[in-house]
Amino acid sequence: MIAAEARAALEQALGEGVLFDVPMSRHTSLRIGGPADALATPADRAELIALLRICHQHRLARTLLGSGFNILVRDAGLDGVVISQKKLRRLEERSGPAVFAEAGVSHAGVTRFCQQHGFSGMEFAAGIPGTVGGWIAMNAGIGVREQKDVVVSIEIATANGGEERTLAGEQLDFRYRELVGLPEGALVLSALFAVSPSTPDAVKAEIDRLLGQRSATQPLDVPSCGSVFRNPEGDFAGRLIEAAGLRGERIGAAQISTQHANFITNLGGATAADVLALIERARERVLERSGIELATEVKIMGRAT
Ligand SMILES: Cc1cc2nc3c(=O)[nH]c(=O)nc-3n(C[C@H](O)[C@H](O)[C@H](O)COP(=O)(O)OP(=O)(O)OC[C@H]3O[C@@H](n4cnc5c(N)ncnc54)[C@H](O)[C@@H]3O)c2cc1C
Repeated sequence: MIAAEARAALEQALGEGVLFDVPMSRHTSLRIGGPADALATPADRAELIALLRICHQHRLARTLLGSGFNILVRDAGLDGVVISQKKLRRLEERSGPAVFAEAGVSHAGVTRFCQQHGFSGMEFAAGIPGTVGGWIAMNAGIGVREQKDVVVSIEIATANGGEERTLAGEQLDFRYRELVGLPEGALVLSALFAVSPSTPDAVKAEIDRLLGQRSATQPLDVPSCGSVFRNPEGDFAGRLIEAAGLRGERIGAAQISTQHANFITNLGGATAADVLALIERARERVLERSGIELATEVKIMGRAT
């Protein structure tokens, strides 16, 4: 619940850019999740900073949302304000050459831009759905390459909206599927990516090759959140889940994919409780069978009840 005074402040600052009691199932790729108290979509950076200040002033919990491709929201929903960055969409060529992209630029936007300009270096990310903000927060990548290999710098805003800073790539502590060490609650505003000159045809050919590999191995036509578990050192979560006999396992309308055992798919009407129970089952069976404790990659959030 958002108190009347805070609600009024949000409405005054964002107008139609703030909505209340918004089902998160509409904003996550799993199509699952109870209502957020508020969903705020600032129109630009200035409005975003104003929003951060309001959240700080009124002590509102905040959740940063990219495109929701790596998020599982519990059925009881989320406290406070979900901040959508989708309107931060500046995308420009910079010297180097480099590509500057604000946090809300989509993977498709970056891919199209690099292809049109004949910029090589970001092809690996073409099939990683989401936004630039989500990519950076997750150090999103594939086996051979991840964000840490291409980021020249990022801009962040501190949690209270009091300060904006630029951090060089070398200052950033990118780990496997996470970026650690940013000031508590900081929001990624933009990233500058290093690219190298190539040709549109060569860039397209590499993107097509990688997308082809992906569609052969991953269930892309059903709602999912990508890899549910992080790969343990020297192994693959999908292999361990399959070895535990769980390929195709179902709880309610959530199913361990028959195509890729590290994906859980929503067959239609699955709840977060279904997915969480399946996650627990996979974790227990893998531990029993292989002695390995799997950790989740998907960000699980929201009220417990
Ligand atoms: C079919 C499929 C395939 C996938 N394949 C891959 C893959 O190959 N490799 C891979 O790494 N991932 C993969 N993923 C997972 C997902 O695409 C990535 O994690 C992606 O980076 C999520 O981006 P997003 O914008 O949707 O972030 P969200 O899911 O919205 O958010 C993810 C996390 O980032 C935080 N966040 C978002 N924006 C910001 C910001 N501006 N500042 C600070 N924190 C922020 C959120 O609070 C959350 O904790 C896949 C997902 C799907 C559905």
